[in-house]
Amino acid sequence: MSLTMKILIGMIAGVIVGVVCNAVGNSFINETIVAGFLGMIGTMFVNALKMLVVPLVVFSLICGVTGIGDIKVLGRVGGKSFALYIMTTAIAIAIAITIAIVVAPGAGFTMDGVDTSGITAKEAPTVWEVFANIVPTNPINAFAQGEMLQIIFYVIIVGIAALMLGERSKPFVEACEYMNELMMKIVGIVMAAAPYGVFALIAKTFTQQGIELFIPVIAYVATLTGALFLHLFVTLMLLLKLLSGLSPRTFMQKMRPAQIFAFSTASSNATIPVTLRAVTERLGANNSVASFTVPFGATINMDGTAIMQGVATVFLANVYGVDLGLGGYLTVIAMAVLASIGTAGVPGVGLVMLTMVLTQVGLPIEGIALILGVDRLMDMIRTAVNITGDAVVTMIVAKTENQIDMAVFENPNAGMDEE
Ligand code: ASP
Repeated sequence: MSLTMKILIGMIAGVIVGVVCNAVGNSFINETIVAGFLGMIGTMFVNALKMLVVPLVVFSLICGVTGIGDIKVLGRVGGKSFALYIMTTAIAIAIAITIAIVVAPGAGFTMDGVDTSGITAKEAPTVWEVFANIVPTNPINAFAQGEMLQIIFYVIIVGIAALMLGERSKPFVEACEYMNELMMKIVGIVMAAAPYGVFALIAKTFTQQGIELFIPVIAYVATLTGALFLHLFVTLMLLLKLLSGLSPRTFMQKMRPAQIFAFSTASSNATIPVTLRAVTERLGANNSVASFTVPFGATINMDGTAIMQGVATVFLANVYGVDLGLGGYLTVIAMAVLASIGTAGVPGVGLVMLTMVLTQVGLPIEGIALILGVDRLMDMIRTAVNITGDAVVTMIVAKTENQIDMAVFENPNAGMDEE
């Protein structure tokens, strides 16, 4: 049986076990076994993924920069991916707002009985602050904190310097190539534990999330899920087909394990090793492009999160009977795009960023209490959309740079060595 299949089974078994445990409601099973034991397995698994992120990004990016070998090409790859990331996020949120306006979730809803204490707004950073922060004062600190944009900036500079030193850099580059291979091997080892990790994470989430949480906000959940799927299956696949000519079907098939990881962990960052492996080893994108675009995308590109913010804003505007007007909607689009640049891909951060968007358009942030209960599940779905967006842009940039090995892309067994 392939690893993908095993992960899928782990996920489905997790949903079943979780739903049953939640329904039965036995406190020993739910607290000691599910929250305690399965919680431990799940945390170990996510920790193992996170453990790989920084070293993997560092070494693969150094190999990427030195592999491109030309600063001009590097600038072009950076420019293209940045433009595509911003464009896809803006399209995502514009579509989300349109759908939400048409469906109008939340109209006629009342706020009775919702606990709104303990919610505080996050201050929006200015564009200038976001960009200034990309330069780290202390690279070791950036590595330790996992500050992805700072790490990318620093490592690219190191790579460029290595290029400038020419022949003298050869031992360093070779060492980094070796380290990159080594890290990829460790990804393979961690992946072998994935079916169990995924099972534990999903079982725990579904045990804790009762179905009754969804009923009051079912219109929000349905609109949001619909908008997320529309973006995933229509917008992104259309962009992939139109801008790169690659088959969306093959792409989706090979992305499935990465999507399941994103779904289980609700973290684009923790999924970086798996996304990187999917686009290089299974889809054939060259590491010189992917090593940059994947971690960059995990940090600045959040299509799914932007969609959630669009739908949530319209939903809350309906709940509070506020008419946002065109200006309000444009503000939401701008804010969500900006927010997605400056925030890392970790669980739940989208909701924190939502406070910022709501404040900007003058909606009470207490409204977040309404959607808090269902946010974990929504987070899981939107994270899968987020990383798929990263991979789509990676493939488009790699294709336009002639950096795709089509034999790998078309081979259904590529990258399945350990599977
Ligand atoms: N969990 C999402 C991610 O990692 C961010 C969010 O909360 O929307 O991409």
